Amino acid sequence: MSHGSSLQNALDAFNDICNVDILSVTTSASAPQMMKTLAKCYFGAIEKDLISRYALSPRQVAILSCIRAPHAQDFLLTIPIDGLGQKMNHRQFRSVLCYRLTIPMFSEGSVCPSCNVHRMDKWGDHAVHCSSEVGVKFRHNLVRDILVDICSKVGIMVRKEAPMGFRSGDGKDLRPADLLLFNWLQGKDACLDVTGISPFAGMGAKSWAPAVALLNAVEKKKKKYASICEDNGYKFIPFAFSTFGEFDKDALDTLLRIKSISISHSNNVKSGEFIFHRVSFCIQKGVGAQLVSRLPSNFM
Ligand SMILES: [Zn+2]
Repeated sequence: MSHGSSLQNALDAFNDICNVDILSVTTSASAPQMMKTLAKCYFGAIEKDLISRYALSPRQVAILSCIRAPHAQDFLLTIPIDGLGQKMNHRQFRSVLCYRLTIPMFSEGSVCPSCNVHRMDKWGDHAVHCSSEVGVKFRHNLVRDILVDICSKVGIMVRKEAPMGFRSGDGKDLRPADLLLFNWLQGKDACLDVTGISPFAGMGAKSWAPAVALLNAVEKKKKKYASICEDNGYKFIPFAFSTFGEFDKDALDTLLRIKSISISHSNNVKSGEFIFHRVSFCIQKGVGAQLVSRLPSNFM
């Protein structure tokens, strides 16, 4: 087959799949730019028909929706830098990909080697929900610490684990604020509460609906902390994310605000993107650690 007919075949296949004339989507003369445009057009067409063209399971449909959320895939854009904690080992990275691509990792029904109580499922839902060693708390603290680090680096006054002296309605001492951001909203200090959830931890993928798990987590936190913060002259900010990297609206707003502060200090509009990359990477690093610590040693 000559090069000429190979090219023609490729063009025909492209035009057929994308249902578009190739010359209408790119006028760029430079090869890298043209390839980027064509790839975007091609994968856009594939993605559009993914659910109707392929027989996806409810879990795959749900995950597809989760990872399409703003910044949910930013961890893939992160530059590996050890000093910033932006590195994970190959088992962690592979297990994160398995979790997102619905590739089974665990033997269904085996006992969790971490808590020794609950049963594992093959997808890793228990692994990312388990509260035992290298559990939810571990992931929570990773994200809390990275937020503190980011705030400090961009010049935002912040205190980690700030004791507020608040008490709940039934007289119990409430936990310190994960982050206390000084002079953050309308001249008030704000208590930021970090929450990570796994969307399938309850009834599994069948009862899943877009963003519901995140919303429920935020509502629960607001109910517990918002009014007590307001009564004491503080603002309350829930910072909720999911194991697939979605952010709740308040978390996105907070990151956008930090980003704009970062840009205002650097004169480079692109400098703020690293904030989303760092937090996104940190979430996946935590998820990877949770999965790996429960993986059979002969897997991957
Ligand atoms: Zn467990």
